[in-house]
Amino acid sequence: MIDFRSETVTQPTVAMKEAMVTAALGDDVFQDDPTTNELQRFAAEQLGFEAALFAPSGTQTNLIAMMSHCQRGDEVIVGQQWHTYRWEAGGMAVLGSLQPQPLELQAEGSLALDDIIAAIKPDDPHFARTRLIVIENTVGGKVLTPEYMAAVAELAKKHQLACHIDGARLMNAASRLATDRQLPVWQMARQLCQGYDSLSLCLSKGLGAPVGSLLLGSASFIQRARRIRKMLGGGMRQTGMLAAAGLYALQYHVERLADDHRHCQQLADGLRELMQAYPKLQGQLELEPVQTNILFCDMTPGLAAELLPYLQRRGVQLSGSNYTKSGTLWHRLRWVCHLDISSDDILDTLKVMDNFARSYQATE
Ligand SMILES: *Cc1c(COP(=O)(O)O)cnc(C)c1O
Repeated sequence: MIDFRSETVTQPTVAMKEAMVTAALGDDVFQDDPTTNELQRFAAEQLGFEAALFAPSGTQTNLIAMMSHCQRGDEVIVGQQWHTYRWEAGGMAVLGSLQPQPLELQAEGSLALDDIIAAIKPDDPHFARTRLIVIENTVGGKVLTPEYMAAVAELAKKHQLACHIDGARLMNAASRLATDRQLPVWQMARQLCQGYDSLSLCLSKGLGAPVGSLLLGSASFIQRARRIRKMLGGGMRQTGMLAAAGLYALQYHVERLADDHRHCQQLADGLRELMQAYPKLQGQLELEPVQTNILFCDMTPGLAAELLPYLQRRGVQLSGSNYTKSGTLWHRLRWVCHLDISSDDILDTLKVMDNFARSYQATE
């Protein structure tokens, strides 16, 4: 099985399991779990925040952040495609009593600064009180630069708004930027967070831990966040076993994210070669440029109907959905590269794709 559906499918490595089994444990609701305390301390130090809090999921760290920054009835500026708005079951509204103000994304995945400014409500009793800007990085695998991130943070400060990064995949962004700019990954990550009040970071995505996310911010923010985590049912007890996996991931799996990015590029290059070799694919298949570990590949519903069962039978798993692009229906496949996909897996996948394309080319 080669599973491209998500990085969340990764299994802990033997060394990570070893760290989990031998972790020192305590009761984390009492703040007595030494391994969780160490994870929080290490992450805060590396990312340039005062404090951190471990929670079961990124959905929860985002919700905790929004509820810690805002009061009931406040408004949060988000992107139409942001996880916080679209993929968290409406938690900000249902549990936080917060009003989202969604904005369309620019092509590179950002929110236009002018759109943000235009969305900030004046102090008038007709309006909800705009309180928070959320930025997602990476967004659909696309990297927002430190220059853009800094511009949003400055804008937020100027308008006395809080700003939060949904950095489920922040380390992928940092890794890509670090490669491009030849800087250390952690330095790049700190730079992305500069001027932000909080960050949510997933340990269970590309970093390869089985469970958990971190929320980072000032000491007083994390103190408020701790109460909300408890309220949401996210206060857990001997979390050290999970925190040990997260700590291991931050220590040993950050540098290797560049491998996932290389694999993803290798996959895109290989698919592009197939499109050259098999002209029947042209017009039926479109590839988005790869920046990190995610490749989006659009195909006609006809091609998808043949390809998907073919891949399924050969143990290549993918997620995808239909969508409309310039008035035409397409099927968008998402290939996510991660810890459990080797460069041999990429070669095997390309071989399967080549076999498919050859027989597809041969049919009428
Ligand atoms: C995965 C993800 C999250 C959190 O997801 P959980 O499954 O709840 O941990 C948050 N934001 C983004 C952008 C994500 O990709």
